[in-house]
Amino acid sequence: MEKIAVFPGSFDPFTRGHENIILRALPLFDRIIIAIGENSEKKNFFPLNKRIQMIRKLYEGHSKVTVDHYQELTVEYCRQVGARFLLRGLRTAADFEFERAIAQVNLMMNPEVETIFLLSRPEYSSMNSTLVREILRYGGDVSPFIPENLDIG
Ligand code: ADP
Repeated sequence: MEKIAVFPGSFDPFTRGHENIILRALPLFDRIIIAIGENSEKKNFFPLNKRIQMIRKLYEGHSKVTVDHYQELTVEYCRQVGARFLLRGLRTAADFEFERAIAQVNLMMNPEVETIFLLSRPEYSSMNSTLVREILRYGGDVSPFIPENLDIG
C-alpha cells in the first residue's frame, strides 16, 4: 500500500523550516501532499492561490510532492486522499503541547491516521511564518527565512 502523508498547514508563507521537514520526510513516504487548510478564522497575508502556486513551483521537479488545499477536517481530508499519515514539525515545547492535543483528538476521530512528528533542526526552530509576514509588512529582507527558490514576488 502506498505510503501517503499529508503535511497540513497555513504556509503563509512557506519557510525554510517547512522545506526542511519535507526534505527529511521524503525518504519516509511514497508521496507527500502539502495541504493548505482554508481556515476562515485566520487572516491571510498571501492569498490561497498565490500560496499554492508558490509551493507548486518550488516542488516542480519532485514527483513525490504535490500541493493541494482543503476545507474539511484534516482527518477527513486524509481519508479522502487515502493518506495514513499526518506530518507535523515540532519546534518547541509549546508546539508539542498544542500538537499533542490535536494529534490525540485526530486519532480518536480516525484511528487509521497516525501523526508523525519531526523535530525541527535547531537552526530552524525560531522560524515561523508569522515573523516572516511581519518582516514583509515592514519591507525587510526575508530571504534568509524562505526557501532559496520560493518566488514571493
Ligand atoms: P499551522 O497554521 O497549522 O500552524 P504552519 O504553516 O504554521 O501551519 O505550519 C505547518 C507545520 O509546519 C506545523 O506542523 C508546524 O509546526 C511546522 N513548522 C512550522 N515552522 C517550522 C519550522 N521552522 N521548523 C519545523 N517545523 C515547522
